[in-house]
Amino acid sequence: MNTDGAVTVTPIVVADLLVEGEVMPVCVHVIDHPDGRVLVDTGMTELHPAVVAAFNPRLYPLNERDFDVAGVDMVVNTHLHADHCGGNHLFAGRPIYVQRRELDDAHHEDDYTLREWVDAPDLQYVPVDGELELLPGVRLVPAPGHTRGSQVVVVETGGRPVVICGDTAVWFGELDEPRTEGQRRVLALDPGEVWLSHVYEPWRPSVAHIDDHGPTDAREGRDRSTN
Ligand SMILES: [Zn+2]
Repeated sequence: MNTDGAVTVTPIVVADLLVEGEVMPVCVHVIDHPDGRVLVDTGMTELHPAVVAAFNPRLYPLNERDFDVAGVDMVVNTHLHADHCGGNHLFAGRPIYVQRRELDDAHHEDDYTLREWVDAPDLQYVPVDGELELLPGVRLVPAPGHTRGSQVVVVETGGRPVVICGDTAVWFGELDEPRTEGQRRVLALDPGEVWLSHVYEPWRPSVAHIDDHGPTDAREGRDRSTN
């Protein structure tokens, strides 16, 4: 448990997907908060023919690496597509927060997800209707678009919030030019960083959006420094 009072968000790559010849990571995110450790999405822990056919994934599951599964106090699913809930079974007995609409759709819509992963034994879903403060300064916000029941996690860190957005945006361009209600809602939060499930680095607003002096684009600067 984190005791210094700082709230941190850490990405963990749990799989690589092959999509149209390009490698796309599957990231989950850990929020360390003085009151508990939250895991946002759970990736996948095993291959399933439907997933292999779609993505030919390579897995680095949470339970097969240096990750303290037992140290997670609660889980959030941004949504219940298979690449986001395939590790839920590791967290039986701990609360798993998901929007009620998402849980209903996963149970009733055809070809939505792998239902046996959603309904692994002894999972304790907490269906959420709308916004919910999970811990002080950590809240769930509905963000319909990618799915009707998608939600994002907003983490207050002292400055502008950090948002963990799941697939509300799958690539940066979807935040640069938002189209869905969920994407617009994320931007309306005025985030300093937005973590996406399928990109290694967080999206950040360009400096030009923050103030008007200086031509430097924050994201270009970051991309150069990390290449
Ligand atoms: Zn996804």
